[in-house]
Amino acid sequence: METEKLVELLGAEHVSDAPDALADYAKDHSFAPVREPWSVVRPHSLEQVQEVIKYAAAAKTPLVPVSSGPPRFRGDTVPSYGGIMLDMSGMNRIRMIDRKDRVAMIEPGVRFGQLQDALRAEGLRLPMPLCPRSTKSVVGSCLEREPHIMPRYHLDHSDPLLCNEVVFGTGDIFRTGEAGGPGSIEEQQAAGRRQKIAMGIQMNVNRILQGSQGAFGVVTWSTVRCEVLPKRQKPFLAAGADLPKLMDLAYWLVRLRLGDEIFILNNVNFALLFGGDRNIRQLQETLPRWILFFCLSGLEYFPEERIEQQEKDMAEIAKNLGVPIAESVCGISAREVLSIATAPSHEPYWKLEWGGGCQDLPFICSFEQAPALVQVMRDAAAADNFPLDDLGIYIQPVCQGHGHHVEFSLFHEAGNQRKREKTKALYLSAARALMESGAFFSRPYDLLADMVFNRDAASRDALRKLKNIFDPHNILNPGKLCF
Ligand SMILES: Cc1cc2nc3c(=O)[nH]c(=O)nc-3n(C[C@H](O)[C@H](O)[C@H](O)COP(=O)(O)OP(=O)(O)OC[C@H]3O[C@@H](n4cnc5c(N)ncnc54)[C@H](O)[C@@H]3O)c2cc1C
Repeated sequence: METEKLVELLGAEHVSDAPDALADYAKDHSFAPVREPWSVVRPHSLEQVQEVIKYAAAAKTPLVPVSSGPPRFRGDTVPSYGGIMLDMSGMNRIRMIDRKDRVAMIEPGVRFGQLQDALRAEGLRLPMPLCPRSTKSVVGSCLEREPHIMPRYHLDHSDPLLCNEVVFGTGDIFRTGEAGGPGSIEEQQAAGRRQKIAMGIQMNVNRILQGSQGAFGVVTWSTVRCEVLPKRQKPFLAAGADLPKLMDLAYWLVRLRLGDEIFILNNVNFALLFGGDRNIRQLQETLPRWILFFCLSGLEYFPEERIEQQEKDMAEIAKNLGVPIAESVCGISAREVLSIATAPSHEPYWKLEWGGGCQDLPFICSFEQAPALVQVMRDAAAADNFPLDDLGIYIQPVCQGHGHHVEFSLFHEAGNQRKREKTKALYLSAARALMESGAFFSRPYDLLADMVFNRDAASRDALRKLKNIFDPHNILNPGKLCF
């Protein structure tokens, strides 16, 4: 009945309730309970999205927006109550790239590789998250506030997301920030405006869209801030057993704006991501426990001089801190790291290469907290007999070094039910211990949502009031956050 109605609204080519199609969305790599949607809808226009939302609101049918392709990891797109899967991946046009204003307007189905290629042709680049999976939607990544690896261009946790067109749970269309008006987008662009200012005349609606797992509205396009493509790049590595020392170096490099890309990985993640055809276990044992990567860039003007000057400053800081700088570590060159880290992952996605299963635990904390929280995680893993060799650690300075994104990856054998259960137990106990030690879970997925919202009744109540305004029928991805 429902499928018939949806076919009537959108046409048969946009709707499916075939068992295979439904099964594709019923589970992911997370611990979210398996549940099939009732139908899958693939809209190709704003009007179709609006039609589906209005129908779902009238029929009180849950609607789960998704833009990236599989494999998925966070449980946020596995339907909690069935309903309609709103797969936005078919809306994949790059609508605008403006070199002068360094901005691109993209639909939710646009993936990193597609956008990178188009930007490169214009002499631009997108600040990339660390080696995203090839099927990841750029809009999806931005809405999730996945950090990118260039903290100097990360001015706010919302970056690089700027403006959005969104359809709320009421069916109303809204444009955030500068895109809000006056005038249509066409009129704005004819007048030379490029929808680049995230803060418009209204309240900053992006604040409730990001991190909401689709529970407030469905985004039909976004603008993203791009950067100039460098003419020259000079990447470096620094490695050692002393995490605070490497973090000190990262702190000074970011604070003095030396270099663009910068991040720290432990030996497990580094071997997995950059090991290529090498024996990963052997490499992991040979590598120092922590590896810092950073890259100096020369842009359009005086690229060599800029790099030369920055290299001198960088060398002086590293010398003062007693950290040796290298162009390769254990046979892996900084050049290889640069090209892999800043491109979409090869297939299979690097996080699945270990044993086919991965559960991430991402949070934000201050510079001072990060080493202690890493120890909390290691203690929790040791207490649960989880092998430390299967624990990936990624530390990313964010917002020009004002904070740190820390992400633990619990690699496990996907097909081994006992190991999966063990990983789940550690995921929950470690999250609790980290939270009690000051980790801020700004993106509480799946099983962590209750834990986060039960600790903060005021925020939960405020969010519920907002939900009543923007999605009064609670059709948008119900059961994921606190409604
Ligand atoms: C909290 C905060 C507040 C800030 N407040 C202000 C403020 O009040 N006023 C202000 O002016 N800035 C402000 N900034 C921005 C900050 O000053 C910029 O990061 C600064 O412009 C960086 O300069 P740079 O020389 O280090 O970088 P560069 O890398 O040389 O470039 C700066 C920018 O210009 C672009 N660029 C470089 N070359 C080209 C080219 N050939 N063509 C086109 N684009 C190019 C780069 O992509 C980059 O975005 C603020 C930042 C933060 C985090």
